[in-house]
Amino acid sequence: MIQRAADTACHAHGHVEAEHCDVPKRVTVLGATGSIGTSTLDLIGRHEHAVEVIAVTAHSSVEKLAQCALDCRAELAVIGDPALYGQLKDALSGSNIKPAAGNDALIEAAQMPVDCTIAAIVGAAGLKPTVAAARCGGRLGLANKECLVSAGNVFMEEVARAGCELIPVDSEHSAAFQILQEADSDSIENITLTASGGPFRTWPLERIQAATCDEALKHPNWSMGAKITVDSATMMNKGLELIEALHLFPVETDQLCMLVHPQSIVHCLVSFIDGSVLAQLAEPDMRTPIAVALSWPRRMAAPTKKLDLAKISQLTFESADEERFPAIRLAREAMERGGTAPAVLNAANEVAVAAFLEGRIKVPDIAALVGETLDSADKRGLVAGASCLETILECDANARLLAKEVLAKGNLVA
Ligand code: NAD
Ligand code: MG
Repeated sequence: MIQRAADTACHAHGHVEAEHCDVPKRVTVLGATGSIGTSTLDLIGRHEHAVEVIAVTAHSSVEKLAQCALDCRAELAVIGDPALYGQLKDALSGSNIKPAAGNDALIEAAQMPVDCTIAAIVGAAGLKPTVAAARCGGRLGLANKECLVSAGNVFMEEVARAGCELIPVDSEHSAAFQILQEADSDSIENITLTASGGPFRTWPLERIQAATCDEALKHPNWSMGAKITVDSATMMNKGLELIEALHLFPVETDQLCMLVHPQSIVHCLVSFIDGSVLAQLAEPDMRTPIAVALSWPRRMAAPTKKLDLAKISQLTFESADEERFPAIRLAREAMERGGTAPAVLNAANEVAVAAFLEGRIKVPDIAALVGETLDSADKRGLVAGASCLETILECDANARLLAKEVLAKGNLVA
């Protein structure tokens, strides 16, 4: 009680004193300039007297990276693109922050000794640095879901071998993680991930077919990076999340369900064999799951809007429509197939989303390109067992080439 009163007093002054803090002392943020990275640094900034930021990384947004490194007084700032080293060095001159660039430097950043790494790079590009962080043990707050989709079992074996403490940051998985504490796997009937349904939830197929990039990027509830926002519009995001959940929780594929919930307040529901259903509720703000990843099993204050159910008044639920959102079926099939099928699905989806963001294809072409790449990969024997990280990385690279071939041929059949 005394501890609680002391914490409240500290929060009122906008920071938390070290001795009363439930956050790790040394943190690295991979993908620090993105949506999750920015939310993480915002949260840490409110506890800056207790938390030290060790390394921050980004791909190409060099000015933003330099600014966030200066703001959080990081020890090391790494830009993935080696051509930007000079710019980063200039921007950090006069500070004590070490600049570095390139893929090896990203790995070195991930290996700096810390209590917790927040893995927030987008896409399979995050696989190597995130595995490097996992191999160091310690705590890993995982936002980079593509790691688990692509590398699934291999990634989880790395985590187990290193004794790494993996805590999901994806909101639905953070919710399931909180609900499932102490739960016996035999007691779980199923896990239901909720989905907002994205901007096209109520749109007829013809309108989705004509949707523009701007329309796909207008998410009704969440503010996120471009790739995951498009994934939410196609509902591939929920498909990827089913695969993510399969690796995180002790369930089989047929125990994983999804439910469209347009208000994005209930993030996950777990049904138990005695008929109980437990849910986690929160305002749609990633600082809640990030705070859970940083401070679990304790709780740290996050500056989110307080949930006011009387004001929200209605929470609604509906089934997902796989006719209009075929990505869900493709992801489920890849999950059931296992091996490298999810890695092919993910790589093809990354190529498709990039082509969509460049204005080269329409929304329905994304799932069509993923489906055709999976078929073609299967015919060429690319869908196989996934024994080690190298197999996955090779499969990811080959699937990207294949997806680009399919894209170049055109004539995608939605
Ligand atoms: P974002 O695009 O806003 O940021 C991505 C970050 O990764 C940036 O810092 C960028 O510089 C870095 N990056 C991109 N390509 C890279 C590369 N090739 N090498 C090294 N770094 C690279 O993305 P985001 O929305 O913050 O999402 C990050 C991850 O978290 C994704 O896997 C996403 O699915 C997951 N996630 C995000 C949210 C959200 O609310 N944004 C919610 C749940 C899960
Ligand atoms: Mg999610």
